[in-house]
Amino acid sequence: MQLEQSGVLRRQVALADYTTWRVGGPAEWLAEPADIHQLQELLQWAQIESLPIRVIGAGSNLLISDRGLPGLTLCLRKLQGSQVCGDSGEVSAWAGEPIPTLARRAAKAGLHGLEWAVGIPGTVGGAAVMNAGAQGGCTAERLVSVDVLDLQGTSSEPITLTSEVLDFSYRHSRLQSAEHLVIAAQFLLEPGHDPAELSRRTSDNLSHRTTTQPYQWPSCGSVFRNPEPLKAGQLIESLGLKGRRVGAAEVSNIHANFIVNLGGATAADIGNLIELVQTEVERDRGIRLHTEVKRLGFSETPSP
Ligand SMILES: Cc1cc2nc3c(=O)[nH]c(=O)nc-3n(C[C@H](O)[C@H](O)[C@H](O)COP(=O)(O)OP(=O)(O)OC[C@H]3O[C@@H](n4cnc5c(N)ncnc54)[C@H](O)[C@@H]3O)c2cc1C
Repeated sequence: MQLEQSGVLRRQVALADYTTWRVGGPAEWLAEPADIHQLQELLQWAQIESLPIRVIGAGSNLLISDRGLPGLTLCLRKLQGSQVCGDSGEVSAWAGEPIPTLARRAAKAGLHGLEWAVGIPGTVGGAAVMNAGAQGGCTAERLVSVDVLDLQGTSSEPITLTSEVLDFSYRHSRLQSAEHLVIAAQFLLEPGHDPAELSRRTSDNLSHRTTTQPYQWPSCGSVFRNPEPLKAGQLIESLGLKGRRVGAAEVSNIHANFIVNLGGATAADIGNLIELVQTEVERDRGIRLHTEVKRLGFSETPSP
């Protein structure tokens, strides 16, 4: 295949290099398409070969099994670029555009609405799928629509889904059902704000996060969804679980809803530490914590 010769498609690639936790076994096939035509060609090839398809962005919300992933893993982080209109507030971005880059561009153009996203190390596609959010803001508030490709093989042309049909709620969207691959997203932001003030807010948000979260260690951000109105981190901390380790995975001493890789942790270490925390919180507080992080490649039924 031409895409294999050009290096877009590769065999047996370590996925630990594609996740912020730095864990995960090899992808049978890994492709990093740089445009929509390459993406369509890869989807067609995988369908002909009957390969299962998985999509990843920046891998900042993923626990990938040590065994790796069979079939084709599509990493969209090279599908970058965005258009920002300072007058109308209309913004569109390819799925692989880093969401902090988009947030900064919008702020510089005097557009308010994405300042919260500056510390989230994911892509625009991943943010739409996860309904990522912080500091009281979330993706769903400003997202107008996404362009998607069908992963079931019924059509190879993009279609547009408006935000009304995406069933957005706290860290959830219909896009998590893996029927579609997000190729681009459109947002409507508020024009007419002072770029200097917006940039100050993005810097404040970033420095708040770097002082309250363990940014110096590989992690996936918050592991558990907050059992609202409670905070998962506070519950875990109140049980004295900060610093608890399995192998080289540790419940962070800085923020108890983070599990950090101290160096050489495996996905199994992290998975076992997640279960240990879930068991202790349920036993002591009668609350089942559910993961925000998505698991890929685990044959056992994943904890929801
Ligand atoms: C230090 C740190 C801090 C974080 N802080 C926050 C925070 O404050 N708030 C927050 O909400 N999250 C936070 N996160 C988690 C994470 O950054 C977000 O969930 C982010 O939106 C994930 O984007 P991604 O591109 O990395 O997606 P990935 O982790 O690669 O994928 C996440 C899910 O989306 C799917 N997916 C990804 N891209 C596509 C696509 N184009 N089409 C279809 N499916 C796709 C994947 O299959 C997977 O199910 C943090 C993570 C880290 C490491």
